[in-house]
Amino acid sequence: LKKEKEAAKLEDAKLIGITVDKAKDFSNWYSQVVVKGEMLDYYDVSGCYILRPNSYAVWEEIQDWFNIEIKKLGVQNSYFPMFVSAKVLEKEKDHIEGFAPEVAWVTRAGSSELDEHIAIRPTSETVMYPYYAKWIRSHRDLPLKLNQWNSVVRWEFKHPQPFLRTREFLWQEGHTAHLTKDEATTEVTQILDLYARIYEELLAVPVVKGKKTENEKFAGGDYTTTVEGFIAATGRGIQGATSHHLGQNFSKMFNIAVENPDGSDKPKVFAYQNSWGLSTRVIGVMVMTHSDNKGLVLPPRVAQTQAVVIPVGVTKNSSEADRTAINGGAADIEKRLKHAGIRATSDFRDIYTSGWKFADWELKGTPLRLEFGPKDLAQEQVTAVRRDNNQKYTVKLGELESRIAEILQEMQVGLLEKARKDFDTHRVIVEDWKDFVPTLNAKNVILAPWCGDADCEDEIKDASSKKDDGEDEDVDEKAPSMGAKSLCIPDAQPALKADQKCVRCDKKAVTYCMFGRSY
Ligand code: AMP
Ligand code: ZN
Repeated sequence: LKKEKEAAKLEDAKLIGITVDKAKDFSNWYSQVVVKGEMLDYYDVSGCYILRPNSYAVWEEIQDWFNIEIKKLGVQNSYFPMFVSAKVLEKEKDHIEGFAPEVAWVTRAGSSELDEHIAIRPTSETVMYPYYAKWIRSHRDLPLKLNQWNSVVRWEFKHPQPFLRTREFLWQEGHTAHLTKDEATTEVTQILDLYARIYEELLAVPVVKGKKTENEKFAGGDYTTTVEGFIAATGRGIQGATSHHLGQNFSKMFNIAVENPDGSDKPKVFAYQNSWGLSTRVIGVMVMTHSDNKGLVLPPRVAQTQAVVIPVGVTKNSSEADRTAINGGAADIEKRLKHAGIRATSDFRDIYTSGWKFADWELKGTPLRLEFGPKDLAQEQVTAVRRDNNQKYTVKLGELESRIAEILQEMQVGLLEKARKDFDTHRVIVEDWKDFVPTLNAKNVILAPWCGDADCEDEIKDASSKKDDGEDEDVDEKAPSMGAKSLCIPDAQPALKADQKCVRCDKKAVTYCMFGRSY
């Protein structure tokens, strides 16, 4: 009977694991990783998902860090309603044109049709700015810098993806108004830098900073800056977060104006505005980047649990004294780590074998497993195993707190380095059109000299979506047929030759632009 029970447990252990290969079936792999890793669950409204504690904890780490940073810049948190009247929503023409197809409307209350339909915010420019107009009376009221942590609804028709593209998503949206353009544009960059740091320092995900093309910029804004990520497994780019300079477009529509403090020729100045947002998409990018066929891999900085202590080597033959000593030692390790500010836990569940527990914590992405057994007890040590590369460390109990902190830090750095190498080697310079599609098909994003023309950009998207384009006869049947979008014009630019032509047309190139298939 005991044997049977053991076998059943092993069966269980297999069942809970990931059953598809990241390299072979990425989309099912991702779905299994987020669900079995207890990050998220599916919901019966399509495109909506439940964020479970394992992912919400990551979001909270981001919130805590970002709140400190934006408050240093003088930004305050606030909250505005989720509903917006049609009249106000439609005030900025380009803006509403950009969002109209995705706006969800409340049309009924109970059984009665509403006289005026009410929209659910897809973003809050139009919700907030009437009040900016009301509150900003003199130049002394500027700058006004508000942020809100909320959810927005965009009824997307593109295929929904957990975290990456959802119909309701959590984000922060910052909205600031300034007296001068200079002050506003400086802030756009400061915020973009913070976004890059969330990706790189917290989530260990490398990004490329840059500017969106006119085609891809935020509807109604002057220009959009962005951090662009890369999913190596699929070779696709992903917009990471955006910081927009809105210029005076909205302030003119909403009459956010003050008397010119200089008095001079223009008596009235319209405010220069920015808006910036980062969503729970970041969690999906992090999962896709680091996780593997055993499940989630969480960067230590944001992991809900950073280290789990698991007692090992106590069997049914072990004496009661041994058992007590091992379990006691493990509990003590957990306590010491917690005391040192490390998010530690321990796993004393005795219905499971240690092997089963290892697999379970691996599935959930816990960065470090600390094995504590008879040998460790005798030698006053603990064995630490890194989730990302299985590297083993023997840690003397005398230096437990400092060594575990160091190993967690090493892992954090190691994850970023590995991911950066993947992105750097898959961001390929292409100057000839004939290389464009084959390079995309080899799971790269492309840096190409480009003329800057919007029609040419559309051309590139179109031409790269046809599988038979380009010289390569052997284009993989399964290669995505999706065209390449412009991802951004990177801040870091390769040197452009004086007579360099655009990758697609005959015009002169004015910049390098990053193109790629994208989420
Ligand atoms: P936007 O206001 O369109 O510039 O969006 C701000 C940020 O929110 C983008 O950079 C994305 O990272 C993220 N985002 C946009 N749409 C979605 C979505 N449907 N689901 C999750 N995140 C999104
Ligand atoms: Zn061109």
